[in-house]
Amino acid sequence: MNTSSHPTADIIYKEIVKEIPTVSRTTVYNTVNKLAEEGVIKCIKTKDSEKHFDARTEPHYHFVCTKCGRIYDVGICCKNALRYDIDGHNVEDIFICYSGVCKACKSGNKKG
Ligand SMILES: [Zn+2]
Ligand SMILES: [Zn+2]
Repeated sequence: MNTSSHPTADIIYKEIVKEIPTVSRTTVYNTVNKLAEEGVIKCIKTKDSEKHFDARTEPHYHFVCTKCGRIYDVGICCKNALRYDIDGHNVEDIFICYSGVCKACKSGNKKG
């Protein structure tokens, strides 16, 4: 929950299993999906088909690095810019995702 990264269920599982070796993958997957359903965390979709989870639930922008695949929160929260109706449609969420080469990759940092 405290992570500012946007882990997949698999990454969350790998983190949790370090702390609780007996936890099953299914339990973790079900739990994160349930939390996402309840709106406690947010499920975001990127170009890869994997679901990423976000502990920040207010609308905000993302930047996805095409090299390392890292997902960054960028810019300010756009909640105040949220228009609750646009052309007569009810807006409940905004999902904007930039993609490109992140600053870490740009500066030539080796992965790991
Ligand atoms: Zn990168
Ligand atoms: Zn985010």
